[in-house]
Amino acid sequence: MLNSFSMRQEKITYRHLYIHVPFCVRKCMYCDFASGTAPVKLRKRCVRAIAKEIEINAERLTPETIYIGGGTPSHLALNEIQIIFRALNRLKTESLREFTVEVNPESVTPARLRLYKKSGAGRISIGVQSFDDNVLKFLGRVHTSAKAYKAIQMCRKAGFNNLSLDLIFGIPGTDLTHWEKTVQTAISIGPPHISLYGLTYERGTPLNRLRRLGKIKPVAEETELAMYRHACRAMKKSGYRQYEISNFAKPGFESVHNAAYWRYKPFLGAGPAAASFDGVRRWKNIRDVGKYCSRIEEGRPPRGKIEKLRGRRRAGEVMMLALRERRGITCAEFEERTGLEIERVYGSIIASFCGQGLLAFSRGRLRLTGRGLAVADTVISEFIGEL
Ligand code: SF4
Repeated sequence: MLNSFSMRQEKITYRHLYIHVPFCVRKCMYCDFASGTAPVKLRKRCVRAIAKEIEINAERLTPETIYIGGGTPSHLALNEIQIIFRALNRLKTESLREFTVEVNPESVTPARLRLYKKSGAGRISIGVQSFDDNVLKFLGRVHTSAKAYKAIQMCRKAGFNNLSLDLIFGIPGTDLTHWEKTVQTAISIGPPHISLYGLTYERGTPLNRLRRLGKIKPVAEETELAMYRHACRAMKKSGYRQYEISNFAKPGFESVHNAAYWRYKPFLGAGPAAASFDGVRRWKNIRDVGKYCSRIEEGRPPRGKIEKLRGRRRAGEVMMLALRERRGITCAEFEERTGLEIERVYGSIIASFCGQGLLAFSRGRLRLTGRGLAVADTVISEFIGEL
């Protein structure tokens, strides 16, 4: 019975698998991801459902990349994540190039890391966010900076040298000097990959409520831009290549999994709220953990609404994703991903941005210039606006 819905899906081999673990110790102030606290019973039920979803789709999965994200995957007990690893064991992994597990500092332990390693993971992404305890407290994070240092040390000791640190900039109460120190600290730790995200005020989050009530003052836009620019310069000086708007890596440590999203490749998501894309159709699994589990247990697909991506809408998405990468896109890649000619769809917009020095063709690839990068959202929105 459980195999019934997999039979109805299109015959496609997915080379990229995302697994969503929707649990955290507590909810951070700014977070609107599909994540939260849950009783142990629901957590256990959910990991069993995720494992089943992976098994159901095993036939169509030959992963080059696996990414276990969340939420906080490291929040799962050893015997819980083991259930997911056992399901992954059934996959054909001869092409596996990258296997990432996301962790948060408070739940990193040598035992967990040993299990990840034994199960084939080779890359750890750590949600550090800041090295300042007051800032971490403000964000509602559970960990302290001491825990973050310790977690990094434990990862290295366990043999994980392929580490990525996440940091947040534009946090109320911080200024450029504070951020410069944060960037310098991250660089001095020397992980081969660093991701930077500007703090956003998402609807329904406590952080947004505080802003609306005037209880916190967002960092000025110019300061945020200065923070971003500083990070780009400092990373470059220290040998990190900015290969995407928010991502910096030492040569050879760029995220293969994320590149699949930016290059419009099919990927399969397992777990509540996990997104999937089969090359034409995109869908998200239902977000409610209990309902997601019930669907899997009853042998019904856990998918929500399915969207078909064609024509101009598809073209807009292809550009939005491709321009995030510093390598940009060639005319042939655009045509291959959309079936349309880039010149016909976007000729005038491209000419206008090239004229303003925000986009440029170099070695056959259309990409954002250094100036364009700083206003990437505005440039990209023009392409989406063409839908
Ligand atoms: S740890 Fe991450 S996913 Fe969990 S609540 Fe905080 S921001 Fe959200």
